[in-house]
Formats: sequence, structure tokens, C-alpha cells
Amino acid sequence: MKADPAAQQRLLELAKVDAELNRINHRRRTLPELERIGDAEREAREKRDAMVAAQTALDDLQREVERLENEVDQVRARQRRDREMMDSTGSSKQLEDLQHELETLSRREAALEEDMLEVMERREAQETDLSHSRKAVETADSRLEDARHQRDQALADLDSDEAKRLAERESLVAGLPEDLLNLYERIRNQRGTGAGHFQGGRCGACRLEVDRAALAAIRDAARDDVVRCEECGAIMVRTKDSGL
Ligand SMILES: [Zn+2]
Repeated sequence: MKADPAAQQRLLELAKVDAELNRINHRRRTLPELERIGDAEREAREKRDAMVAAQTALDDLQREVERLENEVDQVRARQRRDREMMDSTGSSKQLEDLQHELETLSRREAALEEDMLEVMERREAQETDLSHSRKAVETADSRLEDARHQRDQALADLDSDEAKRLAERESLVAGLPEDLLNLYERIRNQRGTGAGHFQGGRCGACRLEVDRAALAAIRDAARDDVVRCEECGAIMVRTKDSGL
């Protein structure tokens, strides 16, 4: 293939823009913010699980308090009923039985109250735990939000960078002969880099040195010949700096 040397030189500018576009795409996939988001998500999930567990433990203690309150109520109702019966009975046998039951009930009441005190202390401690847990969730959530915000910022920067490069690309492409551009695009799609500067005996795309035979062929080639690298297939663009 033949192409005007000036058009070939434009390929170098195009290759530079395309390398920049590749870099932008690579960076988009490998943003450090993405890892930070992953870490923050994991942490937020852990803190939320811990908060749910703390809430469940508190609910259990709350139910235990209610159960004890219920039992105390029952004991006290029984005590009231027994006292009323003592006031109204004439039987000394029944009086004695009631007296005995009231003593048992009062021991039971004391034991329940002691249990209640202990459970209420545990409930209070659990409430403190839960409130710490809630704060930890808030902190983790806001860290996650920050990380997402930073990612969005970084992506927006990359988007605007990309838009600029694409505009540059469009104007470069507009000035290129179609067959040369098609060749460049085909190589780029297959190999990643479509063209490189030939300099110091090396292909600018793969950085490999060409052998003597290839170098001789390049020297003999007409200025408008399109020369390609035998290693990577890229168009090797010759300029006055090529050292030929
Ligand atoms: Zn090469």
C-alpha cells in the first residue's frame, strides 16, 4: 500500500490519541476508588449485621422483661385474692393454708424482682451496645458514600478526558485517506496498536529492533510506501527523525 508521508505522520498523532483512550478505559476498570468501595461495602454490611444482632438481642431481653412483669402481676393478683379470702374466711385450717401460700408467694415475688433487676441491667447494657452499633453503621455508610462520590468524580473526569480525545480523534481521522485508515483500524483491533514511529531501528509500537534485512528493505522503500513491522504488524511511520 502507498500513502502520502504526511498522512502517515498523522497516524502517529492518531496512535497517541488511541493510546490515551486505551489508558482511559484501563483506568476506568482499575480505579483505586473501586477497591475502596468494595472495602466500604463489606464494612457497611458487617456493621449492619452487627446492628441487627444487637437489636435482636435487645428484643429478646425486652420480651424477657415483659414475661417477668407478667409473672409478678400474676403473683400479686394471687396475693390480693388470698388476703381477701383471709378476711372473709372463718376456717382456721383455711387461714393457715392461706398464710402458708402467702409466704410462698412472697418468696416467689422477691425472686422474680431479683431476676427482673438483672434482666433490666442487661437490657440497659444492650441498649448502649445497640446505639454504638447504630453509630458504626452511620460511619460505615458515610464512608461508603464518600468512596462512591470519589469514584463518580474520577469517572466524570475520565469521561470529559475521553470526550476531548474523541473529538481530537475525529478531526485526525477526517484528514486521512480511507484505505490507510482502514488498515490502521484493522491492525489496531487485532493487535492493540495500529502504528508506531520507526526510530533507531526499532518499531515504535512493539519496541523491537528490526533485523538487517528488514532494515535494508525499509531503507529501499519509497517515501510513500506503507511499511509494516514483521513482529507486531503495526505501520512503521518514517519521519526525518527515523535515522534512516
Ligand atoms: Zn512492532
